Amino acid sequence: MRSQANALIHNGFSIYMLPVLTLFHMKKHSIEKLVSFIIEKEVSNAQSVTQYRNPLICFTELNNCDFFHLRETVGKHHLLPDDLLPGAQSLAAFFIPFAKQVVNANYKSEFASKEWVLAYTETNALINQICEKVMAALSQSGIEAVFIEPSNRSDRKKLTAGWSHKSMAKLTGLGSFGFNRLIITDAGCAGRFGSMLFRAKIDSKPVESKERCLYFYNGSCKLCIKRCPVNALEEDGRFDREACYQRIKQTGALFSDLQLPGACGKCSVGLPCSLNSSVKTTIK
Ligand code: SF4
Ligand code: SF4
Repeated sequence: MRSQANALIHNGFSIYMLPVLTLFHMKKHSIEKLVSFIIEKEVSNAQSVTQYRNPLICFTELNNCDFFHLRETVGKHHLLPDDLLPGAQSLAAFFIPFAKQVVNANYKSEFASKEWVLAYTETNALINQICEKVMAALSQSGIEAVFIEPSNRSDRKKLTAGWSHKSMAKLTGLGSFGFNRLIITDAGCAGRFGSMLFRAKIDSKPVESKERCLYFYNGSCKLCIKRCPVNALEEDGRFDREACYQRIKQTGALFSDLQLPGACGKCSVGLPCSLNSSVKTTIK
């Protein structure tokens, strides 16, 4: 596990501006404030074509997280916090929601739109940049942090990731799983997730567990099934991972001249859960 972990951990440091640190003293609650400050600032100042809505961030103590249950549900390949950062004590998960126009563009096109694929690429880079800045800022107070790149796949055959940012979002209460197998937050599911581990305690609130998918709330909806162009989402809840992967690969070929990777995201657009919690907006 350690070598798998070492391959995934991003060790890149860049120096974050010192003035930021003068705003904060590294007390428990200040870690959350500093991390949130950096994420919000980097998203609002992003030099990307992609536009964003406001990011969402949640923290929790690792004592609150059942990683052993996670390994039972996701698989034994999933790393534990100690594999990445021995002595890690807390976890942050964040969501960067795409602007409405990015989401709408992907709804209209047959294959993934250029806007969507670009958003996927630019947001992955933005997440790396954010995490590097958080690491650098915390390191100046002697606090160690690590992150895993947003697009990590440790098992190409099984198409599974060694670290699931979606599961981290669930563990922190940032969102809940939808029938589309994505995490639905209070700002929907159209966007990208990041997560970080810290070797420091934080002042976390109890994790809030609430349904945001209409199907899991009251058995209705299931509109995402129809959105998938290759029927990868099945009525009985099974997921055809290979069909999904092939569609993404196919899209990659369409954008290869622009050096953009494959992406799809049709199961996160044009739905009641795309931009909001579908439960919150549908059930009054
Ligand atoms: S489309 Fe409906 S069933 Fe599918 S994930 Fe969204 S809320 Fe859940
Ligand atoms: S990403 Fe595309 S192919 Fe994969 S499940 Fe969603 S809609 Fe289907």
